[in-house]
Amino acid sequence: MKITDIRLERLSGQLSSDLPLFEGRVLRPIDVYPEHRAEGSEVMSAGRFSPSIETKDSGKWQITGTFVFVDTDDGITGLAGPGHAGEANFIKTQLRHLLIGEDPLATERVWDKMYRHLIHGRKGEPMFAVSLVDCALWDIRGKASSMPLYRMLGGPTRKSIPAYASALGFPIGPDQAAEQAKRFVSDGYTATKWFVRDGPMDGEIGKDRNVELIAAIREAVGPDVEIMVDAWNSWDVRYTLDMAKRLEEYRPRWLEEVVKPDDISGYARVRQASPIRISGGEHEYTRWGAREYFEKGAVDVYQADTLWAGGISEMIKIAALASAYEVELIPHGASVPINAAITAAQSPPTSPYIEYLVQWNEMSQFFFKNPIKPVDGMVTVAELPGLGIEIDEDKVDSRESL
Ligand SMILES: [Mg+2]
Repeated sequence: MKITDIRLERLSGQLSSDLPLFEGRVLRPIDVYPEHRAEGSEVMSAGRFSPSIETKDSGKWQITGTFVFVDTDDGITGLAGPGHAGEANFIKTQLRHLLIGEDPLATERVWDKMYRHLIHGRKGEPMFAVSLVDCALWDIRGKASSMPLYRMLGGPTRKSIPAYASALGFPIGPDQAAEQAKRFVSDGYTATKWFVRDGPMDGEIGKDRNVELIAAIREAVGPDVEIMVDAWNSWDVRYTLDMAKRLEEYRPRWLEEVVKPDDISGYARVRQASPIRISGGEHEYTRWGAREYFEKGAVDVYQADTLWAGGISEMIKIAALASAYEVELIPHGASVPINAAITAAQSPPTSPYIEYLVQWNEMSQFFFKNPIKPVDGMVTVAELPGLGIEIDEDKVDSRESL
């Protein structure tokens, strides 16, 4: 089999949702500057996220997402996405010429060629591009062998996995958050993650707000539900250790991305001293990035994203490393279908949960015919050959070839 073409399409459609999409927003590293601290939740939909939401008209959101299609001389087309606009350009200008004529089933060879070619692009958008192509090739492999992804990866260790409800975008006033957290529990979730809005620049009053948020959620969900706290790269070592002391009585399962992704030593210092477990890796890439985190003892939970960190070929290497270092691997949730398959092919203690971003995954799966949504707090793997994703043409208002 040979790759005959790589196509990139930007799809647009309209999502109707009852959810309060992106009314709240996450704390960001750039919020140390007051003019950015003051920005509202519109920054969440400013095109850095995938797919992007643009306008809300008459109760509908304009959604766009970029997908990659890999055609073969066998008539099988591999599909992956949605991706960011940025990586489409890398695929088109940097990778396409390398891929035409390659055997799509030789994923190790293709990955290695892409990596060696993009030697300045080992992290960030170029690696998103590699990831998308790699996932599309696994889709081809699945379609060629009539096997769903979890099967190709040696699963299932189990077919349903507990999802944690990731509350990115929900308002975080303590009362609103408590109410929403209760809703998650009544929907069957046994774990929920919340994003703080205060960091080192916000002083003692900000620390109090962070504590009030988590205290209100603990009070709302009771003692048996897991709570995770995400600082989105925006705290520092000293601040985190103080917050960990203050939050300990509410028993969060972990504190996430507490320092900058490049400050792996900082992670290790926090982890040494924190009474709460530390997670990170969502903004790290490849097996080599993961190895740094594991060797330095930086995290208890590693959260590389399959669509960012190098694709499926890379995630199974990261998973092997994680299990050897006794670190949990709970991928960041850009792709629910792929993460479900990867998770269902790991030992349960290595990957005990799957992330479900209640708002974002509604958008990221908008164009799918078979979006995977938790039922009673559990995500079940797709049984379709390949990645299990298909474009629902009824949702596509317009498409643009890139
Ligand atoms: Mg996160």
